[in-house]
Amino acid sequence: MCEKVMNVEEIFNENVFTMGKMKERLPKKVYAEVKNVIDHGGELSLATADVVAKAMKDWAVEHGATHYTHWFQPLTGITAEKHDAFVTNPDAEGHMLMEFSGKELIKGEPDASSFPSGGLRATFEARGYTAWDCTSPAFIKEDATGAILCIPTAFCSYKGEALDKKTPLLRSMEALSEQALRIVRLFGNTEATKVTASVGPEQEYFLVDRDLYLQRKDLIYAGRTLFGAPAPKGQEMDDHYFGVIKERIGSYMKDLNEELWKLGISAKTQHNEVAPAQHELAPIFNTANIAVDHNQLVMETMKKVATRHGLACLLHEKPFAGVNGSGKHDNWSICTDNGVNMLDPGDTPNQNIQFLLVLACIIKAVDVHADLLRQSASNVGNDHRLGANEAPPAIISMFLGEQLEDVVKQLIETGEASSCKEGERLYTGVSTLPDLQKDATDRNRTSPFAFTGNKFEFRMVGSSDSIASPNTTLNSIVAEAFCEAADILEKADDFDMAVHDLIKQYLTEHQRIIFNGNGYSDEWVEEAERRGLPNIKSMVDSVASLTTEKAVKLFEKFHIFTKAELESRAEVLYETYAKAINIEALTMVDMAGKQLIPAVITYTTELAASVSTVIDACPEADVSTQKELLIETSSLLAEGQKALKALKAITAKAAAMEEGEAQARAYHDEVMPAMAALRAPFDKLEMIVDKELWPIPSYGDLTFEV
Ligand code: ADP
Ligand code: MG
Repeated sequence: MCEKVMNVEEIFNENVFTMGKMKERLPKKVYAEVKNVIDHGGELSLATADVVAKAMKDWAVEHGATHYTHWFQPLTGITAEKHDAFVTNPDAEGHMLMEFSGKELIKGEPDASSFPSGGLRATFEARGYTAWDCTSPAFIKEDATGAILCIPTAFCSYKGEALDKKTPLLRSMEALSEQALRIVRLFGNTEATKVTASVGPEQEYFLVDRDLYLQRKDLIYAGRTLFGAPAPKGQEMDDHYFGVIKERIGSYMKDLNEELWKLGISAKTQHNEVAPAQHELAPIFNTANIAVDHNQLVMETMKKVATRHGLACLLHEKPFAGVNGSGKHDNWSICTDNGVNMLDPGDTPNQNIQFLLVLACIIKAVDVHADLLRQSASNVGNDHRLGANEAPPAIISMFLGEQLEDVVKQLIETGEASSCKEGERLYTGVSTLPDLQKDATDRNRTSPFAFTGNKFEFRMVGSSDSIASPNTTLNSIVAEAFCEAADILEKADDFDMAVHDLIKQYLTEHQRIIFNGNGYSDEWVEEAERRGLPNIKSMVDSVASLTTEKAVKLFEKFHIFTKAELESRAEVLYETYAKAINIEALTMVDMAGKQLIPAVITYTTELAASVSTVIDACPEADVSTQKELLIETSSLLAEGQKALKALKAITAKAAAMEEGEAQARAYHDEVMPAMAALRAPFDKLEMIVDKELWPIPSYGDLTFEV
């Protein structure tokens, strides 16, 4: 028997309207116009858009598409789509033509009233528009509704305020490009016309059996377990990380890769992660906005393919207490269109002045805007990970590695970096094995922001979150630092001297952000406090950083967000937090009241009956075990019932508050602890009550029986 072998080269980009397909299908002049807009910005004429739309529609229809959608990314953090068929009114003879105009391609007007806007629309206009982001290719999504042509779009209000995650990202990419060009020009690079941020996100996820998943209301409603005693085995043996991939999971990964490759997503790496049932996928890096779009598609496809395999994919940052949760490493670099990666130190970084200036600017940017970066990686689920010894602490710091740290030290101390530690040879001590060249930068897994050879790796991002905000923030803060440096250096009489002084000044002023030690240690928390670095513990605490004077100045200067847009985003974040915790609290109330308490009552009743039955049959029998269990169970049950009442009351109080910061704080400070108080007795009860009676699958069932 020979199963059909997948031809990756053939299926790659099968469902994408690539530049290649455009070139084949468009008249030369039209293609040139489109390419120019994609590469250098500007607007397509309506006549050109009509030609592109027709070619795109013809291609999509050949692939079975019946509908198109403007695919966008509202502030919910996920994607949105409304399908429109290509059908038009039939002619007099009843013939119908599939049509799609340039106008329909370029602009859409979805009813925007139900998307979060943080008051933006109420103040201005109810209308929302979607506008084609021609730099991210259109693609076909195949699902139960058929094949849909998806056109990546930005989503704005009538007055042009961003209502989505893509608009600010695109604005930040332009700002970064403009400012980075000023830097490379100073070093004589006159050929570059554009600088692009590239992003490679590593995505972690869990897979559990779908039938078991469907038995847990917490997983269904909240995406994470709200009750659950630890299984006898967790991740302590380190045997899951990079372990052999189970057949069922392997078959899922194969299917997932195939779907992603068809969408032009270069899924490259796959492996088992630390926690049982946890895995990771990493694609090859891509232009920031495309990487953001692709990451959304990766998350969506992971879920879809899971269902097909009788599995459920959990993207929540902390689906299970007591074992690692999931994050996303956002690998970021900046490259000119004539091929220079501005983060590539070369073999001798101490002599690479442009690199040292770029590095100094990024160090400054991260130090000045640590609060914004922290905020950009905040979401409700990530509060369970950051600072919990499995993910970076909530304190932003930078890891540079031995080589660069040494160069920075020399520069601060003497103003010169005359030597450079080289990657040494690593002796394997086995004659048949080659000796390896050691990388000059080692890994430090505990750092939230690490230099890894020719890119930075921002490791704080949550697994379920869009990577749009972290990259918008990174682009913006680095654009600002480049701008400030260029403002000084462009005016300098003696450039060499000025750049030397500036690098030394930035490194000296901002060295506190560099930390190469163990970010998980308590000593670091104290040390960071001494250094005056912010330690922003929760999502709720992080929101305020969006609207500080410093943030407004930064984002307004580079036209990334207006003050009103920032305020609206802060509003949305508070609302999102309150709503998410409210759902979790109500789910706990539901599960405790309707499933767990009744199960415990059944168990205690059986126990009590057993005591009397045994005594009846044999008055001198020892029933101390039953009695002991009965006492322990009843007391935990009473504790649970009391906690349930308390949670109900506290949640009702928080829910009745006006939306905004105070309400979000009430959910964080009062509802969350009440949830923990309810969970505790039931997790103990799970360990006592007969497994047959416990109404929900255990941690062991969920994470080991996949
Ligand atoms: P790890 O960090 O797990 O060792 P890799 O170094 O292979 O993994 O890279 C992880 C991610 O970083 C991948 O998505 C990869 O494509 C991306 N990446 C590699 N180089 C760059 C770069 N210059 N800019 C942005 N992302 C990059
Ligand atoms: Mg990594």
